[in-house]
Amino acid sequence: MQALAVYPGQPNSMHLREVPTPSVSDISDGRGVLVKVLRVGMCGTDKEINAAEYGQAPPGDDFLITGHENVGQVVEVGPNVPSPIRPGAYVVASVRRPGTSIYDRIGLQDMTTDDVYFERGINLRHGYLTEYYVEDADYLVPLPDHLHEVGVLLEPLTIAEKGVNQAFEIQRRLKIWQPRRAAVLGAGPVGLLAALVLRLRGLEVTCYSRRPGPYLNSELIEALGGVYVSAAGATLADASARHGPFDVVFEATGNAQLVFDGAEALGKNGVLILSSITGGDRELTINANRINQGFVLGNKVMVGTVNASRVDFVSGVDDLIKAEARYPRWLGRLLTTPIRGLPNYADLLHLLTEAKDAIKVYVEVAGRG
Ligand code: BGC
Repeated sequence: MQALAVYPGQPNSMHLREVPTPSVSDISDGRGVLVKVLRVGMCGTDKEINAAEYGQAPPGDDFLITGHENVGQVVEVGPNVPSPIRPGAYVVASVRRPGTSIYDRIGLQDMTTDDVYFERGINLRHGYLTEYYVEDADYLVPLPDHLHEVGVLLEPLTIAEKGVNQAFEIQRRLKIWQPRRAAVLGAGPVGLLAALVLRLRGLEVTCYSRRPGPYLNSELIEALGGVYVSAAGATLADASARHGPFDVVFEATGNAQLVFDGAEALGKNGVLILSSITGGDRELTINANRINQGFVLGNKVMVGTVNASRVDFVSGVDDLIKAEARYPRWLGRLLTTPIRGLPNYADLLHLLTEAKDAIKVYVEVAGRG
């Protein structure tokens, strides 16, 4: 079967290759599930992997099959696979696999303290840009049939779900936390999905991002009942004066400056959630005393979040269902840029870097059965 792979360490090495078709018996204890891949979404991490800035091949291979945002359809199951994972069912596979820390051993590999982590399509494990994959049923999340079109958004949604779920978990310290206003920094896919999650939990949402509206992303924020503020016309402090104080700030810009602007804009007893994996070594000037004083006198929290655990996938499915009911077709509008078939990967690479108006570039690997 065909797969899209890179040679980690070699920039722009994406290529189509033949790899063996996996089988349910590759997984022990009869828990194997063979899945036909339908759609795979692309994100900044995939760009970095193709630029050889990130990602490693699995031991014994010199190539890494890429792709981690996925949705597929079950083809065959081993004898010990629980229902509802049955042939024909739609499933999404999670990304990270357990290492050895105590967190990994209780199913919280997203919280690993190991130095090495295993992520399908990213680090040391092959991904989903392939015709079929096989996986242990433990790592698959079933989707209701009506979500098959938008199911490819579940994995990026789980990044927002984990951040928000962790914030609520942390805020149990306050006994009676009733967050009313949130700021989402950045209007890319994670920012938009974070805005969705926060709206579904009843918060007023202000999205602060670079580009002046109106454009699709600002319209999507407004379609959720949120407010869009462009950095071209206002500072985050201005946005906070008008729409804050913010009980939650969700940072998803990829620009570390906004972390510290967000720290200043955060209201008392608030939580600042950091989700951008920023690279490089640019230095910033920040007002450390002011930020520190605000955190101390305001009992504020700053929390980093990466990857997601099974509970975040499960709450993500609930939110996809609610989103389709409350904001019909909103999710589908994020799927701006399809690439038809694995062999068209040249278009994929082109669109990943050039399609400035794209929200989600994704590969239509196959039609459903
Ligand atoms: C993926 C996460 C992953 C992170 C770090 C993100 O793009 O969505 O699943 O943990 O990259 O590799």
